[in-house]
Amino acid sequence: MRPEPDCSLCRLCQGRTQVVYPSGNPLSKVVLVGEAPGKNEDEQGVPFVGRSGSILDSMLGEVGLDRRDLLITNTVKCRPPDNRDPLPDEVGACSRFLEEDLANAELVVGLGRYAVAALSGHKGKMDEVVNRPMDVDVGGRKVRFIATYHPASTIYNRKFREELRRTVAMVAEEMGCGSKV
Ligand code: SF4
Repeated sequence: MRPEPDCSLCRLCQGRTQVVYPSGNPLSKVVLVGEAPGKNEDEQGVPFVGRSGSILDSMLGEVGLDRRDLLITNTVKCRPPDNRDPLPDEVGACSRFLEEDLANAELVVGLGRYAVAALSGHKGKMDEVVNRPMDVDVGGRKVRFIATYHPASTIYNRKFREELRRTVAMVAEEMGCGSKV
């Protein structure tokens, strides 16, 4: 089930340009989940474009992957005003669509603290969980989960960038690609 283009199940419908649907391979066993669409995503209708998307695409390319190999989505499908964090009731309203995005997932990667909190319940420091695989419950199914940093947070932080690179290497391993990292 995908949200209708005019979905109004939560207040995020009020400021969006369009619903940002998942992109990539809907049958992929690996799903990357970001927090929420930003300005570029809202304008283009595609998750992880702009600077964040370039970083992610570049790291995927380093390990022989293309974004079309994976499914890339967000916890909420509409841009929060002023790029604020999505609120719990908004995440709750959109969770039925996220659950559908994760229906085929065997490995879920949460990009950024809000996606990590929404998927794993971890609300503490990111460095306590980054790149430490755990199991999470997805619609009553146990699925492997890796927490990592949002690409945007790695722009000026070398350590975060290396951790994200490690995450991508783990994804490549899951997908049977030769990691060069
Ligand atoms: S964020 Fe999700 S639930 Fe809210 S309006 Fe957009 S598609 Fe609907």
